[in-house]
Amino acid sequence: MNLQALSPCTFRVSPFISPPKTSRHRSVIRARVEPSEKSVEIMRKFSEQYARKSGTYFCVDKGVTSVVIKGLAEHKDSLGAPLCPCRHYDDKHAEAGQGFWNCPCVPMRERKECHCMLFLTPDNDFAGQDQTISTDEIKASTANL
Ligand code: SF4
Repeated sequence: MNLQALSPCTFRVSPFISPPKTSRHRSVIRARVEPSEKSVEIMRKFSEQYARKSGTYFCVDKGVTSVVIKGLAEHKDSLGAPLCPCRHYDDKHAEAGQGFWNCPCVPMRERKECHCMLFLTPDNDFAGQDQTISTDEIKASTANL
């Protein structure tokens, strides 16, 4: 059996791959854009403050936290609002304008439900003990993505 065929890397889409020519695929696979340092810092500070305010904790794997913070920052740059990065939208601009999924989203504000695992309640098996994350931690844990 060809082990390479089973490698998870086989299924990964390079962030630098050009989207296929058909418009149907163009909306699904996009080149990943690196968010600005300013927006990453804004979303990092927001995440720390909101974790403290809501009594939630970051994931024991700070790589998860880092990817979500960068996803929020990317949306802040491109849409002007921190639209949740863990969902699919047919029209991101319309969703950002509507506000339901702008972080902290309504499910988080109302029920402390964060499906991105950015804000975890203490009883969650994946909750760590930190409500802080440094810029260096974000850089280090996302350097190879
Ligand atoms: S699920 Fe809600 S609270 Fe969690 S990152 Fe997305 S928008 Fe923010």
